[in-house]
Amino acid sequence: MVWLTDDLLFQYQRCRRRAFLDVYGDRTHQDSPSDYLLKLRQDSVHHRQRVLTAFQPCHQPQFSAGDWAAGARATLDLMAQGVEVIYQGVLAVASGPNQVRLISQPDLLIKQPGWSCWGDWSYAPITIKLGKKPKLDYQVMVAYPAYLLSQLQGVWPAQSYLALRDGNLYPVSVERFTLKLQEVMAQCLQDLKSKTAPELFISHSRCDLCHWFSSCYQEAQASSHLSLLPGVTPARYELLQQRQLITLPALALAQPADLAILPGFGELVADKLIHQAQSFLHNQAIPRSDPRSPHGFPLWPEDLPTGEVELFFDIEAAPDQNLIYLHGVLVVNRRNGSESFHAFLAEDHLQQRQVWHDFLDLVQAYPHAPIYHFCPYEAQTVARLGKLYNTPNRLIDSLLGRFFDIHRCVTDGVTLPIESYALKHIARWVGFDWRDEGANGAQSICWYNAWRETGDRAYLEAILRYNEDDCRATYQVKDWLTRFAEPYWDRFYQAMG
Ligand code: SF4
Repeated sequence: MVWLTDDLLFQYQRCRRRAFLDVYGDRTHQDSPSDYLLKLRQDSVHHRQRVLTAFQPCHQPQFSAGDWAAGARATLDLMAQGVEVIYQGVLAVASGPNQVRLISQPDLLIKQPGWSCWGDWSYAPITIKLGKKPKLDYQVMVAYPAYLLSQLQGVWPAQSYLALRDGNLYPVSVERFTLKLQEVMAQCLQDLKSKTAPELFISHSRCDLCHWFSSCYQEAQASSHLSLLPGVTPARYELLQQRQLITLPALALAQPADLAILPGFGELVADKLIHQAQSFLHNQAIPRSDPRSPHGFPLWPEDLPTGEVELFFDIEAAPDQNLIYLHGVLVVNRRNGSESFHAFLAEDHLQQRQVWHDFLDLVQAYPHAPIYHFCPYEAQTVARLGKLYNTPNRLIDSLLGRFFDIHRCVTDGVTLPIESYALKHIARWVGFDWRDEGANGAQSICWYNAWRETGDRAYLEAILRYNEDDCRATYQVKDWLTRFAEPYWDRFYQAMG
């Protein structure tokens, strides 16, 4: 018997393979949850508790764990009695000739005016989610209990509701999402009837927190799956499949003009993807050619100035707490060969202002030093903090004038045989290793929260180590890129006489 649940439908919308593996996969191959995932689950529990306090008192059906039939009977009893709010009621409907059981356990069922089989009242579901926006997959998900309710109480709820992170209740028009829901349910059941798992597609935005990641990733690596290539999105992959271009050699040999005409490609993307495949295949860096540039190379020496003193800057932030808790700066003095790392750490919210001023003091002590960072976040944050703390505009403008984004320089100038142009991937390719294997931005937030909860300074030390390594990684990538670019600049200067 196939059981279709809220969670299965939700996961299915994100990844067909995930839903299949959750039903049939070998659970011993699942990854253990990361600290960050545990933190999200904890946040989710707190959010749920906050929402529930607004709906007290509520009734909860009593049944033994796993006995869904008993849960469904107890829920029907509560609805027939007309109680105001039901917490984690069970809605169950048998569907179709193949013994498919549709089960939903909405967080809340709330009594509404309007006729149903019970009398002059009916119920509408509320689903509690930690997300910020009523995304499509949430809306389809909340239409599911509404669909089951329509069969159990004989009338559709006019609306379902999403209780999101901001504390607001978002009404979801059930009518609008019924067709989409039915489509998703039919496709999901179709997949679950199959004997083989749907093809994997590694997309870091949705796979990173998935408990099947290690197993899917190993399979992707073993088969050199094209989803490992930066720039290959699910939509582009489908088009490449239609043209039988699903292996690295095939894509590496493709003609840019043949790909450029595909929807969502264009010359730039076609060129990039082919170079990416060539770079992977031959495990080498390929300069990006720019016919408009006089030296045929899209990076200019001004993009990567070399100073006698250079600063490498990285911020750690907890956006959910609206807090910038660390400005880390590596000062590289090429004059005397010294390197020193400076960390301006806010141990709590109150210190954020002070560390901002300490950071400004340091960068102003080297008024001509270029400041390298990775991705636009550091520049955006400096502009934002400048406004927040009324720092004079001329100071912020002159500071930002010294900022150089190494990520942009890499992506403009070169194609590398890596799966992502995140700092970790690029720096590892040029030979840099982080001291803590599992350190990353999300882990840093977990460490910071753990420091606030326990007062254990070992967590702060771990954050500082990670931040310093990020600065050093940016330094190493910058130096590698300068060495890589030099021959092109030499040619350019020779041509200029
Ligand atoms: S790791 Fe990615 S491809 Fe594999 S099941 Fe999870 S979301 Fe799907």
